[in-house]
Amino acid sequence: MKKILVVGANGQLGKCLQKLSSDYDWSYNFIFLASGDLDITDSGAVLSVLEEEKPHFCINAAAYTAVDLAEQEAAQTFAVNADGPGNLAQACREVGAVLIHISTDYVFDGDTEISYDEDNFTNPNGIYGASKLKGEQQVMESNPKSVIIRTSWLYSEYNKNFVKTMLHLFSEREEIGVVNDQFGQPTNANDLAEAIMQIIESDKRVYGVFHFSNYGETTWFHFARKIAELSGSDIKIKALTTAEYPTPAARPRRSTLALDRIESAYGIEPRYWENSLQECLQTIMVSK
Ligand code: NDP
Repeated sequence: MKKILVVGANGQLGKCLQKLSSDYDWSYNFIFLASGDLDITDSGAVLSVLEEEKPHFCINAAAYTAVDLAEQEAAQTFAVNADGPGNLAQACREVGAVLIHISTDYVFDGDTEISYDEDNFTNPNGIYGASKLKGEQQVMESNPKSVIIRTSWLYSEYNKNFVKTMLHLFSEREEIGVVNDQFGQPTNANDLAEAIMQIIESDKRVYGVFHFSNYGETTWFHFARKIAELSGSDIKIKALTTAEYPTPAARPRRSTLALDRIESAYGIEPRYWENSLQECLQTIMVSK
């Protein structure tokens, strides 16, 4: 039976993979390691776990994802998002495992009117994006037989994310303001977990960088309005400009990802973002 090692298993993607793994337990042996089980910045520990487990695939769901705090914690951010993936890629090469690593739309500056494809010029705005770009480079230098998936605006029923923050605010406030001049693609982390499993299940093995998000572009404001509509909230939502809602880390203005490559290489067809959002909200409501 093939073995899949998942690191960063208590993050939202890690938890979605844990949930999905029960659909595959007849064909794969999953090992889930949280940050307390394996710190990916510890190269010796990474190599010894990989040598002991000898997985066929390693999924890196670990990351430093506090985009604003990263501006003050650059060393820690680069250690987790750049050196960590490098350690995993090197150890995967040693044991012949395929690394599936997750990156972000924040590798782009967002100064564009068209969707970014995988070969477009990268130019991150902040420390988080810069550390993730360095992570991509360290993975490809250490082991070109890796799959890197850039995704965007991840949410799920797990942990802290935009959807859950909005639901919380809807229950506490009568009016909120949300930025309406940043464009991107919300992505249900459960759909990303499924895409990863489709790649693992594929007969073809195509390496390199791929984009995966839910299909369709929106702004944070329209995303929030759709969350309100689908959850039955009558909250008033005011459209703000980025200038009216300054954050320590600058965000891309428009970081929409072109999704053709993952479809032609692996036959993965992302769902429309509103459908995936509706499913996530139903899961959250049912579990309340
Ligand atoms: P989360 O922040 O939910 O989870 C990240 C996990 O990584 C946490 O459980 C954390 O552990 C763990 N971790 C942190 N440092 C280490 C370390 N040194 N060793 C091992 N584990 C560590 O992330 P998401 O699930 O949201 O993100 C998954 C991927 O998607 C990441 O690569 C992220 O960069 C990328 N991405 C995310 C987006 C988003 O909107 N969230 C958008 C685009 C891309 P602990 O629980 O102990 O903190």
